[in-house]
Amino acid sequence: MASPIAHSFAGFWTFLALRVRSKTRLATHWHQYLPQLGVLILLANLPDLDLLITPGFPANALHRGFTHSLAVATLISLALSCVWRIAGGFWRSAILYFTAYGSHLLIDLCTGTQIGWTKSGSGVPLLWPWPKNFSSPLILIPGVRHQSFSALFSLDNVWSCTYELLTCGAITVIAFVLWTHILKSKTNRPAPQAAAHSLTELRHHE
Ligand SMILES: [Zn+2]
Repeated sequence: MASPIAHSFAGFWTFLALRVRSKTRLATHWHQYLPQLGVLILLANLPDLDLLITPGFPANALHRGFTHSLAVATLISLALSCVWRIAGGFWRSAILYFTAYGSHLLIDLCTGTQIGWTKSGSGVPLLWPWPKNFSSPLILIPGVRHQSFSALFSLDNVWSCTYELLTCGAITVIAFVLWTHILKSKTNRPAPQAAAHSLTELRHHE
């Protein structure tokens, strides 16, 4: 399984997707968006709660069970959207909740013991109650070991967490730079009305 670092980043990216069209400045009004950010990060980590609620932690045999399925992702998204419309309308909110929860399934699909085209993932029961486990042949995240407490606090896991922090952090920085570049080029471009106005003024002077 990937650590909460990668999943929390995915929740953060879902939050940015929600705020990207907003006219209010995120940097100055960040405190009013904390509940939205908190819920989306929580949702992105929620499937791994099966690790804690069933006995045998950390080598939990029931981990990566029904909570890692599209059926539960849909149910939770619809139920949560009934309680709180995070993005205005019911369906928009449900889709956003599903994106946050679904990001967990996507990350787990690409998590395995060896990075590359190694088919080393343990898989997730995406179509539960059908028991088949699905996994991507391309592994992007090495994942953390949790067979025992010594494995949980091993150097391997420190390396995996550092890897997730660096790769997800780099993706966030690159996306942020690209986005501010796009925003700048949009604001520097003259509006069609303003351009027409300056053209008329120019003709008037002639
Ligand atoms: Zn998981």
